[in-house]
Amino acid sequence: MTAKIIDGKEIAARIRTEIAADTAALVKQHGIVPGLVTILVGENPASQSYVSAKGKAAKELGFHSVQETVPAAIAEGDLLALVDRYNRDDSIHGILVQLPLPKHVNEEKVLLAIRPDKDVDAFHPVNVGKLVIGNPDFLPCTPAGIQELLVRSGAKLEGAEVVVVGRSNIVGKPIANMLLQKGKGANATVTICHTRTRDTAFHARRADVLIVAAGVPNAVTGDMVKEGAFVIDVGVNRVGTTASGKAKLVGDVDFEGASKRAAAITPVPGGVGPMTITMLMRNTLRAAQLRIRS
Ligand code: NAP
Repeated sequence: MTAKIIDGKEIAARIRTEIAADTAALVKQHGIVPGLVTILVGENPASQSYVSAKGKAAKELGFHSVQETVPAAIAEGDLLALVDRYNRDDSIHGILVQLPLPKHVNEEKVLLAIRPDKDVDAFHPVNVGKLVIGNPDFLPCTPAGIQELLVRSGAKLEGAEVVVVGRSNIVGKPIANMLLQKGKGANATVTICHTRTRDTAFHARRADVLIVAAGVPNAVTGDMVKEGAFVIDVGVNRVGTTASGKAKLVGDVDFEGASKRAAAITPVPGGVGPMTITMLMRNTLRAAQLRIRS
């Protein structure tokens, strides 16, 4: 079997077209323009490029987009005051504080300061709790992107054996929680593996859907993939440089080996990555739509 490639760029582009149409409708019918502020602390080059990609995507969709850049030495209290300013700004529906933050700033305190109804990353405990009880306002962006990739590429999730490798709060735990909920695009039987799991290969081999978010190249090899499985590789690992001097990226899955057995697989780059920013845009639109009800 040679796996079908799940094209994250193409699926993300389709979803952005849907978001643009819904945004235009929201503006026309209610005069509400979705507003997103990104807050970047310091000059970390990777963070700078993520933030500028988010700002660009927001502008392209017709959002009101604000980019705040503050020095790495900012006092925690000043950063909290900045967050609070946007909590009270009615033109802003989504607040995103780019992580990681400098060591002298308490990350948890800053994330807790964001109003849950503007928490478009869905990291606030209120939003985590709502997800777990099956009543979310926002889904965290990378897991939401994974679920969309699976649904739109035809994976059967109802009753499926899903194995998630990785238990982080931003990927592993939320995607596991989302796929075990009652409802469409879920209803799976979910197993989570981590570094203390006795035999990850044993679990992986019986997965109809295998989601790997370990942050380790080749954490999953071809022999760990069941024939006909859907494989989602979330990992982004920099391993040396390409001939053109750019960082060479690989995922967590041995792509070549896994492609011989899987029915469908995401590439790295071009799989999960393009979905994450798109889901942030969808959450910002949703935050603006929720304003109609309040
Ligand atoms: P993380 O916080 O480092 O968590 C990694 C998890 O994987 C941990 O739970 C760890 O177990 C588990 N793990 C590591 N090696 C393993 C192995 N060999 N077998 C079984 N479990 C193993 O990472 P993360 O934040 O979830 O990110 C994971 C990867 O996804 C990274 O490469 C990251 O760059 C990428 N990522 C991509 C996107 C995107 O938009 N494309 C978004 C987020 C993350 P323990 O808990 O026992 O340590």
